[in-house]
Order: sequence, then C-alpha cells, then structure tokens
Amino acid sequence: MTYQSVNPSDGKLLKKFDELTDAQLEAKLVAAEACFKTWKNKTYAERAVIVAKASAIMHTKANEFAKIMTLEMGKRIGEARGEVEFSSNILAYYAKNAERFLAPVKLDPTLGDGHMESSPIGLVFCVEPWNFPYYQLARVAGPHLMAGNVILVKHAGIVPQCAIAFEKLLTEAGAPAGLYTNLLISHDQSDRVVDDPRIKGVALTGSVAAGRSIAARAGKNLKPSSMELGGSDAFIVLEDADLEHTIKWAVWGRMYNTGQTCCAAKRFIVVDKLADTFMEKFKVALTALKPGDPLDEKTTLGPLSSEQALLDLLKQVDGAVSHGAKVIMGGKRIARPGSYMAPTILTDIKPGNPAFREEFFGPVALFFRVKNEDEAIALANDSDFGLGGSVFTKDIARGRRVASRVETGMMFINNISWSDAELPFGGIKDSGYGRELGNMGIQEFVNKKLVRYVAAEAPL
Ligand code: NAP
Repeated sequence: MTYQSVNPSDGKLLKKFDELTDAQLEAKLVAAEACFKTWKNKTYAERAVIVAKASAIMHTKANEFAKIMTLEMGKRIGEARGEVEFSSNILAYYAKNAERFLAPVKLDPTLGDGHMESSPIGLVFCVEPWNFPYYQLARVAGPHLMAGNVILVKHAGIVPQCAIAFEKLLTEAGAPAGLYTNLLISHDQSDRVVDDPRIKGVALTGSVAAGRSIAARAGKNLKPSSMELGGSDAFIVLEDADLEHTIKWAVWGRMYNTGQTCCAAKRFIVVDKLADTFMEKFKVALTALKPGDPLDEKTTLGPLSSEQALLDLLKQVDGAVSHGAKVIMGGKRIARPGSYMAPTILTDIKPGNPAFREEFFGPVALFFRVKNEDEAIALANDSDFGLGGSVFTKDIARGRRVASRVETGMMFINNISWSDAELPFGGIKDSGYGRELGNMGIQEFVNKKLVRYVAAEAPL
C-alpha cells in the first residue's frame, strides 16, 4: 500500500488508498489525450477562467485545504494556510500573465522577417514531493495548463488526501475531464508513464535519487524534462552582519516547515569574528521552540512529515557523529508521541565526513567557522548541490559581489532562499536543471517555433 495518510503528530492512520490498476491508468491517459485536443485550441482567456477560478476557490477555502495538509504531513497550521494562499497566488499569476509570457516574439533576420511562437506540446507528467503538498502542484498546474498543455501528476505516497483535494479543486473550477489528473501509481507504473509516447514532457521535484531515475528515463525517451532537486544551501554570515536580524532569519531559514524545505538554510558559515556570538544566540533561539500539536496556533515546533523521515534523519546525525561531528544541541527525538526531532546543531564536520556533502532534511543545522569572506565562498561552493543560498552583511554592494561568486541557481542578500510567483526558482549541479515559476517556468514545456518569410527564389 503506497498511498497512506498518517498523522505524524500522533502516528494514527487517517486513510489509505489503492493504487490505480493498469487499466485505470490507461483510461486516465486516454482522457488526458482527448482533453488536450480541445484544450490546446482554447484561448488564453478561456483557460484563465478555470485557472483563476481554482485560485479563488483555494483562497476561499484556505482553512479547509490547510487542515488536510497539517493532518497529513504535520505542517504547522499557520504555515499551511500561508502555503495555500501562496498556491492560490501562483495560479492567479499565471492566469493573468501567461498570454504575455507566451506572445510571439518578433525576430530581425538579415533577410525577410520572422518570429518565434510558443505552442503547447501535449501531456506533461509531473512527479511531486510531500513537503509543499499544494505549492508544488500549483507550480506546475498554473504555468503548464495556461500554456495549453494538460498534466498528470504523481504526488508523494504520504500526501494522497492533498493530491485528491487539488484534483477536486480543478474539477470544481470547471476543468474538463483529463485536464488535471492525479495518479495514485507505483514507481513502476510511473516509469511506464514516462515511456508512454503520449507523454511529451516530464517535470520532477524531489530527491536526487528520484531525479536521476526519472531524468534518465526521460532522456532515454528523448523527452524534455525539468528537475527541481535537493539542496544544502549556505547561510553566510560576514563580520559586518546585523546579528539580531541575521539570527531571526537563521532560525526561520532552518526551522520553517520543520526544516523540510529544499532551499532551507542548511550550512551556517560564519566568519570568525561573529562565530561565538552567533552560536550562542542561535542556540538560545532554537531552545525556545516548543513542540506541540501542529493544529495549535501556539506550537512553534511541529513534527517531521513521517516516522520514517525522523528515523532517517536520526540515522544521518548518528552517521555524522561517528565520522567526527560534534552535537552542540539536540541530536535526538523528543520524548512525546509523534515524530518530533529536537532542534540540532552539528559542528566539526570535516570534508571526509559524509555529512559534509549530504542534505539534512529536517531541523539539523551544520555549523562552520571560517576566517573570512573568501573562505566562506570557497566552503559554500564545495558542495554537490547548487540550489540557493544567502549572505548577511550591512554592505549591500558587498552582498551582491558575494552572491555573484556563489555557484547556485539563486542567491539572497540579508534574507533566506525563498520563492515568489514572479521569480524563477531552481538550481544547478545535483540540485537539478530548468526553472519553475516566473516567466521562465512557463517556457519549459512549450514548442518554440520559428516562422520565417523570405521573398527569395531558390538558388540555381
Ligand atoms: P522523493 O523521495 O524523491 O519523492 C519525490 C517524489 O518522487 C514522490 O512523489 C515520490 O513518490 C517520487 N519518486 C521517488 N522515487 C521515484 C522513482 N524511482 N520513480 C518514480 N517516482 C519516484 O523526495 P521527497 O523525500 O518526497 O522530497 C524531499 C526532496 O525533494 C528533498 O531532497 C528536497 O530538497 C527536494 N525538493 C526540491 C525542491 C526544489 O524545488 N528544488 C522542492 C521541494 C523538495 P513516492 O512518495 O511514492 O516514493
């Protein structure tokens, strides 16, 4: 049974769902293909009616959507509501801007004239993770549906109720059958969907392992793909940083969503001069977090998404320690029901320690002391990942210079990696390729066609 909804704050099974049979999967592919034949010919305005309606419904029912998420993967209720509103904004953003982003672009050839036009490519298969159960879906549904594609989504096994709620949302907004399809399928079935000739593009957000598997499959089939994978973002603190401001971001950057964010601050790289004070204040702030029911607005530390996620993270911390890392605080589960992990700080992580290159997906901060800016940048770049990162300094010009030298897809000055509907999101190296959101996000799965006119005779 792959699709199970379990409340991680008390371990109780909420619901379980059967996977689709192959025949049911085939029926959904047939419906999606039939839908594309008409959807691709709709005007942007016609598509926008449905996508904007979905946005409005999400906004109106924010509490309902948020509660499903909190029960299913443990996100604190205030954060969950924030994610629902953000997802609604993304849908509204593409409903409003898609036509402008995909408008023909005039070219200026030496002979004659020409333009590039953008057209939909067909059925896009999306594989999505549990950590942002609606935002991830809005990130693919908004752009790709507005571009005239139809999408089929395999969501993570632990958030089937969120997956179903989002599909129902589109139906309630007036989506024709096959426009947005939730697929409760196995990894084997997923491989076959990637191979299926009706699928024309593949988008995955998830771990590096999943990315390698699905990208290889898409590559073998010569299908375009976008990969939004893990990260181990550096949080660089220079000697001229405003420490009060920086500490607040350090806590939020590491602890938002109980640390389970791809672009969370994961490696804290602090210049010598501030290192001791930073550590003291960071410890105090993390110690103040209170575990509790994520449905309770007063809770400041929620559970991890599942018991397995907690066990994996504890094992990872033990592995780091057995290779020489020191636990400054935490490192253990919290003695209470549910899958809660104590906020943890690790130091003395040397390059030979596997932890030096791994992503810690939970409330575990890796702390590094460096001599100066150059050492900070070198350490930030000594990573297999390249998603985001941040630098804290009162000198914004200096912050921009440092940002330019860090090898990632995104850099933030005096705040942490975050996303907005209008800004491209994505990374390099093992963090993947392609971009979601903004104008770039809608360009990933469209045919960029050159149309040229030249008044010339064929050469003899
Ligand atoms: P995951 O285990 O890779 O799962 C992500 C999705 O991929 C799930 O739907 C999962 O389905 C599916 N999947 C995994 N292996 C697969 C395979 N071999 N074939 C087909 N589908 C497969 O990752 P996760 O633990 O859910 O999510 C956390 C990871 O996602 C972290 O590394 C995080 O940094 C990354 N992430 C990246 C971004 C970004 O934008 N860059 C955003 C959010 C998260 P099952 O659940 O059924 O296994």
